[in-house]
Amino acid sequence: MKAEVILMKCPEVNRIYGVRVEERYDDWFRTWAFPIDERRASHEGFDRNEIKGNLDYTDDYNGCPYCKSKRIVQCGRCGRLSCWNNEERITCGWCGLSGDVTTTEDKLNVRGGEY
Ligand SMILES: [Zn+2]
Ligand SMILES: [Zn+2]
Repeated sequence: MKAEVILMKCPEVNRIYGVRVEERYDDWFRTWAFPIDERRASHEGFDRNEIKGNLDYTDDYNGCPYCKSKRIVQCGRCGRLSCWNNEERITCGWCGLSGDVTTTEDKLNVRGGEY
């Protein structure tokens, strides 16, 4: 089983966190979220991981360590992931882009993120 760690950002507290993802049945699932600081994430190379998948969460996924959200939204400009708490308009925690939430059926193509 393949597993990676990707980075997401919580707009509520403007902090990053790591999300362990596993490949199952040709798709990727989020299984565990944990707080991490940017220096360590960069040192571990988490900011360079790339995966492609729907990124649904598993039953035991614990949610964002800060706001507890399990839902995510992908920025249309930078492609990075942030927590989503059902707001109609979001501001991307990574690049600052504000916009309406668009949900897509396409698979997410995720890079870990840069700072
Ligand atoms: Zn959050
Ligand atoms: Zn962005």
